[in-house]
Amino acid sequence: MIEYGIRRRLRGETCPACGEERHRIYKSHPIPVPASLGRGLWLFTDCACIRQARAEERSRREQLLAVPAAHPLPPGLQEKSFAGFRVTDFNRDAYEDSWAFARNFEKINDGKGLILAGPSGTGKTHLAAAIANELRSRFSVAFVYLPTLLEKMRMTNVPLEPLLHADLLVVDDLGSERATDWTMERLLIIVDGRLNNLKPTVFTTNYDLQDLDKRVGMRVASRVLGSNLRLLLRGPDFRLLSVGY
Ligand SMILES: [Zn+2]
Repeated sequence: MIEYGIRRRLRGETCPACGEERHRIYKSHPIPVPASLGRGLWLFTDCACIRQARAEERSRREQLLAVPAAHPLPPGLQEKSFAGFRVTDFNRDAYEDSWAFARNFEKINDGKGLILAGPSGTGKTHLAAAIANELRSRFSVAFVYLPTLLEKMRMTNVPLEPLLHADLLVVDDLGSERATDWTMERLLIIVDGRLNNLKPTVFTTNYDLQDLDKRVGMRVASRVLGSNLRLLLRGPDFRLLSVGY
């Protein structure tokens, strides 16, 4: 009969950072599993550094979840995932780079984000939402549809803090807002503020990147193009294709 939950101690290792010993322990599977998986796993016990990192991560997550997001994803995008994305030859590179971005998000410390560019219906917003959904339980994430945000800013006093300090900001539909000096100025404040805070931003745009300066002004365009990885999505238009089914 198999006894679950027994532990055997072997020689461990000393953590170079805190000097505490990490014991090697054998942990049996708590429930019966297929024989091919073995009876258990070799693990190391936690040292002081690992316990502290875990406590910090826990309190960070609690803080995050205690405050409702100032700019949550719209309900229609909250279920968008990488798994639900239809990968084709037209979007494979963008899909893979978006996934790598989300997977390595923790390691980004230079504020470098993404621009997802391509005609409407190619899945840009789906990928941007999938990134946001992948990260929003562990990081502060803000999602804004740019024309609506700018309209709101014109009518009321929208606090900038959540936009400038969110770990990730998604700016959906860059360039489709009505370009005025005022909108370009607001946009520049957001883009510059995030670059200064080294916080990455994901932009989606329907416009040809060569024409972006005509849509958002030279100063915004040069910052957006100069500090983000460009991912291009090409047709065919998903929505058009699915109409015939
Ligand atoms: Zn340690």
